[in-house]
Amino acid sequence: MTTETTPAVEAVPLPILSHWIDGRPVEVLPEQTGPIYNPATGQVIARVPRGGADEVARAVAAASKAFPAWRDTPLIARSQVFFAFRELMFQHRAELAALITRDHGKTFPDASAEVMRGIETIEFAAGLPVHLAGLMTPNVATNVDAFTLRGPLGVTAAITPFNFPVMVPAWIYPIALMCGNTVILKPSSHTPGATQLQAELWTRAGGPDGTFNVVYGGREAVSAIVEHPDIKAIQFVGSTAVGRYVFEEGTKRGKRVGSYTSAKNAMIVLPDADMELTADAAVASGYGSAGERCMAQTLVIAVGDTAEKLRPLMLERIANLKVGPGMEQGVDMGPIYTKEHRESVIRWIDRGVEEGAELVVDGRPFVHPTNPDGFFLGVSLFDGVTPGMDIYNEEIFGPVLGIVHAKTYDEALALINAHKYANGTAIFTTDGGAARRFKLEVDVPMIGVNVPIPVPAGYLSFGGAKDSAIGDLAMRGEDGVRFFTQQKMVTERWPEPGRRPGLSLVFPGNS
Ligand code: NAD
Repeated sequence: MTTETTPAVEAVPLPILSHWIDGRPVEVLPEQTGPIYNPATGQVIARVPRGGADEVARAVAAASKAFPAWRDTPLIARSQVFFAFRELMFQHRAELAALITRDHGKTFPDASAEVMRGIETIEFAAGLPVHLAGLMTPNVATNVDAFTLRGPLGVTAAITPFNFPVMVPAWIYPIALMCGNTVILKPSSHTPGATQLQAELWTRAGGPDGTFNVVYGGREAVSAIVEHPDIKAIQFVGSTAVGRYVFEEGTKRGKRVGSYTSAKNAMIVLPDADMELTADAAVASGYGSAGERCMAQTLVIAVGDTAEKLRPLMLERIANLKVGPGMEQGVDMGPIYTKEHRESVIRWIDRGVEEGAELVVDGRPFVHPTNPDGFFLGVSLFDGVTPGMDIYNEEIFGPVLGIVHAKTYDEALALINAHKYANGTAIFTTDGGAARRFKLEVDVPMIGVNVPIPVPAGYLSFGGAKDSAIGDLAMRGEDGVRFFTQQKMVTERWPEPGRRPGLSLVFPGNS
């Protein structure tokens, strides 16, 4: 008789990501890490460090040490690092996109588009010297000239969300760095793979050690950033509750803080709109990236009898959507990024049903045939969503669209202007006059006309209002430069030989 023995299966250790401090990885023990899941399979694929005050302190020390030399590096030399960095990011774009799809779940083409939009801001940063120019006024008094210059702040930080692991950090750190600051990036622990690669590429591009540091972690790392006395400025992107905490605690300590936060965006559809184009736009905006985009239009405000025409066109498109793993060809929508968030979206759909909205398409029962443990959800469509409902008021951040009925354009506009969130909005119409009026009257800063996700191009500023942004300046573009620099105003006198002004106690003495 033979006895069958089970071959010893050697446990293959999971890859562990490292903090990136002072130009090199900082390894951590497995017990100081948390799991990273592939949402398409539901499996743990790697581990991410759980950093805290010690790691933040190390990163701040490295960034402080690197700051004077980086500040004094000629602009053209800083620019050259950015050109090299841009090339490396471009060469590695497929790898970056695959890491995004692995950690987040969004489809590979969507992740690739995200990488390219992030690269746009790196390109903007490479050309930033012209935006750092000051203004000079000669001869404001005898032998006196006045001018402004913009200098960096010192050590700065970026705290970023899970949903755009390349694009959102790349909206912040390139501008901070090119302005001469050093940076600590604290990305989301759910989608860290592509962040790690960005830090490595920065060092390979010639970014000096300590200029760009990455610390992983959650609440403890964020508190350490907010409380550290040597961090001068923070840009935060994420939910309103955390953004408000970062803003209040950071500004209390004298830091400059900008928080770009949650959203509930609505698009108005006028009866004269091109309904085929509008149906494409609504479905793409609502369900792309599984609805996990802060600029998605998740409420469709249909004016007059518009909903009767639009709803069947949306249903046709919804019927053809393919939900599956983001690396699979032909898939339109990947899984939800975590199991917990999937459950939260399901609770929102339950809530909408309880509140009396008509659930026209129910994504809750969807199970992916070959990946039953993946965090998949089908798409959901509500009709008859009304202002008092929680599913109207609150951000769901999942593949759930709601149709709202308004009798007139004025009523639709008033709904948008009364909402507590104000990130992006859009109007769908063929009437230029109506579109023009909308741009002037709507109380939301990022506006699309026949464009459902009106994220400005990478070299322009980006930012919402009301509960969608806390702080004075938008991120990126001209505002980004203002945020990450301190303006100095210089008044200087160079007397001509033998021509001293002489003693006078009068101020101001303008002669
Ligand atoms: P989140 O607020 O949970 O996390 C954002 C960052 O804060 C992460 O780095 C996270 O680790 C950290 N964090 C989370 N909880 C914390 C806590 N209790 N204390 C301290 N730090 C904490 O946001 P998210 O779920 O990663 O991202 C989704 C949210 O981000 C949505 O609300 C979305 O609208 C918003 N968002 C806004 C924009 C924008 O530009 N306005 C862009 C993308 C995402």
